[in-house]
Amino acid sequence: MREIFLSFALLFALTTPAFSGVNVVATLPWIGSAAKEIGKDKINVTVLVKPNQDAHVIEAKPSMILAARKADIIMYDGLDLEIGYLPLIIESSKNPKLMPGQPGNFDCSQFITVLEKPTTVDRSMGDVHPLGNPHYHFSPSRVLLVAEGMARLLADADKGNAGYYEANYKAFAERLHEKERQWRAVPFQGKKFIAYHKYFEYLSAEYGFKIIGYIEPKPGIPPSAGHIEGLIETMKEEKPTAILVTPAYGMREAESLSAKTGVKVTVLPHDVGSMDGTGDLISFWDKVITSLK
Ligand SMILES: [Zn+2]
Repeated sequence: MREIFLSFALLFALTTPAFSGVNVVATLPWIGSAAKEIGKDKINVTVLVKPNQDAHVIEAKPSMILAARKADIIMYDGLDLEIGYLPLIIESSKNPKLMPGQPGNFDCSQFITVLEKPTTVDRSMGDVHPLGNPHYHFSPSRVLLVAEGMARLLADADKGNAGYYEANYKAFAERLHEKERQWRAVPFQGKKFIAYHKYFEYLSAEYGFKIIGYIEPKPGIPPSAGHIEGLIETMKEEKPTAILVTPAYGMREAESLSAKTGVKVTVLPHDVGSMDGTGDLISFWDKVITSLK
C-alpha cells in the first residue's frame, strides 16, 4: 500500500509542473494585495512583512533572502521606509533581476506625489520618514496609480498575458471608483483628529478632515511629558473628534491621552489584513473610512 502511495506521489510530482508565472516579492501587505489584484493567478506573491508588524522596524531574515533569490520582481513602498532591511535582502539575494535600475526593482513611490517631502534630510533627529511621508497606501487614488504601474510592469515581464493584466487593472479601477463614490458621501470636511503617528496625511488631504496634533513629536520619536501637556492644551481648545491609532503602534500612549482628556480612541488598520475584515485593499480603505465617520 505504501509503495502504491509513493508511486502516486512520484507521478504527481512528475506531472505537476513547478509554478511558471511571475514570482513577485512584496515588502508590505498592501503592495502584495495590489499586485494580486492585477496579477491574480498568473503571479505568485510572497509578502515579507506580516500585517501585525510595524513596518518601520523590520529586520532582514534568511527566509526573506531566500524568497528574493527566486523572485522575478521585488516591489516596495520606497521613500526609505524599508531602508533597514531591503538593501540587505536585495544584495544578499545575489539576484541580478532585483538590482537597483533593473525593471525587477519596483519602487511603488515612483508613481505618486509625495507629501511632507523635507527640504533637508536629517536622520540625526531619528525621523523615520526621511524622504517624505511613506504611508501613501491610505490614499486610494495614489494606490490606483501604483496598480497601473504594476499592470505595465507585469505586461512587460509576461507579454503573453499583457491583456489579462490590463483587464484586471481596469476591473480594479472600476470597483474602486464605485466605492469612492460611497466614501466621498461621508461628511469629513472640517472634522478634527489627533493621531499617534503620521499615517493619515494622504487620506486627510484627499477627504478633507484635519489632523491637528500628533502624540509623536516626530515620526518614530516617543513623546516627552512636556509634549503631551502641550497636546492636552490643544485638545481642550480644538475639541477633536477622536485620537487615531493603529494596532501595532502607539496604543498605550493613545489610551493614556484618552484617559486624561476624555477624547475617545479610534483604532484604524495600518495595512491590509491588520484588523478583521481588511483582507484586501478595498475592504482596508472601507474599514478606515467607516471608522472615521
Ligand atoms: Zn511612518
